[in-house]
Formats: sequence, C-alpha cells, structure tokens
Amino acid sequence: MRSEPLASEGVRDEMVLSNQRVKVHIRCRKCGETFILRGVRDSNGHIETGFKRCLCDNEDDFDIEPLH
Ligand SMILES: [Zn+2]
Repeated sequence: MRSEPLASEGVRDEMVLSNQRVKVHIRCRKCGETFILRGVRDSNGHIETGFKRCLCDNEDDFDIEPLH
C-alpha cells in the first residue's frame, strides 16, 4: 500500500481571490458628481470598473476610492 503524494492546497483559492469584486466610489473633479460602481481588482491592484466618462464629459479627472 503506497501513500499518495500530498496535493498542493490553497493555490486555486488564492487565484480566485486575486480577482476581487469591489465597490468603487468615483467623484468627478470637475462637476463634483459622484458614482458608485462595481469593479474588479486585478493582481496589480488596478480596479477595472468600465466607467468611461462623467455627465459633464470629463473622462480622466476623477477621485477614485475603493469602498469596503
Ligand atoms: Zn463631471
């Protein structure tokens, strides 16, 4: 009777956790409009929300803060 090698555990769980879903608070620095979106945090810490632009046509001047 042979003993089986131990399977490596936990690796897959960590892979899943690296793509966390987070809520993100976005505030436009031009008009002050705020948005709450759901995004996905990737392994680099970058959060992808799919948010494109504010109602005032601002596309890149935002305060972005992840919510807990
Ligand atoms: Zn705006």
